[in-house]
Amino acid sequence: MNDKRNIYTVRITNDNENGIITGLLQEVQSVYTDNRQVEFNPLTALCDLQGMISSTINRFMDGYDKHPFFLGRKYSLEYSRERKEGDFLDMMVFEDDDTPSSTLRRSLEILENIISVNYFELSPMIKFSLSEFEIIKQSLKLKFSCEFGFKEKMLFLDRFYYPPITYSYETNLKTIFEENKEVPYRFFYTCYSMEDIIFSVFHYLILMNYKFNLCKHCSKYFATTTLKRKFCNRKSPYPKYEHLECEQAVRNIKQLLARRRKVIYDKLSIYYAYAVLEEFLFFCDRKKDDVDCAPNIYNLNDYEKFLSKDNIKAKFMKSEYLSENIGIEGEKALRDKFAYNKNNFPIYSEELP
Ligand SMILES: [Zn+2]
Repeated sequence: MNDKRNIYTVRITNDNENGIITGLLQEVQSVYTDNRQVEFNPLTALCDLQGMISSTINRFMDGYDKHPFFLGRKYSLEYSRERKEGDFLDMMVFEDDDTPSSTLRRSLEILENIISVNYFELSPMIKFSLSEFEIIKQSLKLKFSCEFGFKEKMLFLDRFYYPPITYSYETNLKTIFEENKEVPYRFFYTCYSMEDIIFSVFHYLILMNYKFNLCKHCSKYFATTTLKRKFCNRKSPYPKYEHLECEQAVRNIKQLLARRRKVIYDKLSIYYAYAVLEEFLFFCDRKKDDVDCAPNIYNLNDYEKFLSKDNIKAKFMKSEYLSENIGIEGEKALRDKFAYNKNNFPIYSEELP
C-alpha cells in the first residue's frame, strides 16, 4: 500500500485542419517514480478496451492485444486469459496491489454494455446522452475534472497554447463550438483512477456527439460522428496490409484481387474451354459480391484463397479442360462435371463424375 495517489492527465486534441484527433495519457503523480505517458486514439481506445475485456470472458472475437492505455507495466486481471511469464497485458497500472477494484470492473462492464448493447443485432449504438452519463458518473463516484480551450498564439512568443474557456451566462457550449468551428481545440482532463481515465474519454465522445459503429473491415467498434463512416482508422489486420488503415487496405486488397482475376481470366480464355471460364467467373462474382457487401477479413481472405495459384490450378487448369484437345467427348465430360442449379448457374462439385 502506498499513500501517494495516482494522478493522470488525459489530453484530447482535435487539430481541426485534417480532422486528426489525438489522445495523450500522462502520469503526473504515481506510486512509480517514472512518470510515463502514452498516446492513444480517442476514437478507438475505449472500444479496444471493451473488446479486450470481452475477449477475456470469451464472449467476443479475439485480437485486442495492444491496449490503448498501455503504460508498459505488468498487470493481471482476475478473469484474464492465460499469459506467458513476463507478458504485459498492455494495460494501465492499478493503484496499490495491481488488482482491479470492483469499481473498475463495474466500469468496464458498463462500458461494454454501452458500446456493444446492440452487438447481436449488429446495429450501431443509439446515441448516449450527457444526462445518462451523469448518472454513471455519480454511481461510479468518478472524480475527473474537465477543461477545454481553443488554440491561441502566445503574445510576443512563437508558441501556441490552449487557454481554458471561461463561461458566462450568455454563452453555451454549442455556440462556442460553432463560433470556433475551424479552430483546433483541446480537452484537458485531470483523472484520479483508471475509471476516471476511461470515462473522461467517454465524456469527450458524448460531448462531441459521437456514436459507435462496427468497422466493416476489422469488425471492431469505433466512435464516429456520422454512421455513414464504415471504416475505423485502425491499421488493417490483413496480412501484408498492416501498414494501411482499414479503408485504404480494403481498397488496395480489392485492386490486387481484381488484377489477379484479370490475369487468370486472360489465361483461361486463351487455353481453356468456355465452360471453365464461365465457371471461374461465376465463383469470382459470388466472392466479389461477398467482399463488396462485407469487406471483412474472412471474405477477403476467402476470395484471395480462391484466386490463389494452387486453387486455380487444381480446379480449373486441368489438362482435360484445355480447349485444343477438348473435342465433343471432352465438352460432354465437362458439362457433366458441372451441375447446374434451377437458375442455370453452374455449381461446381468435386464429387460429380
Ligand atoms: Zn477497422
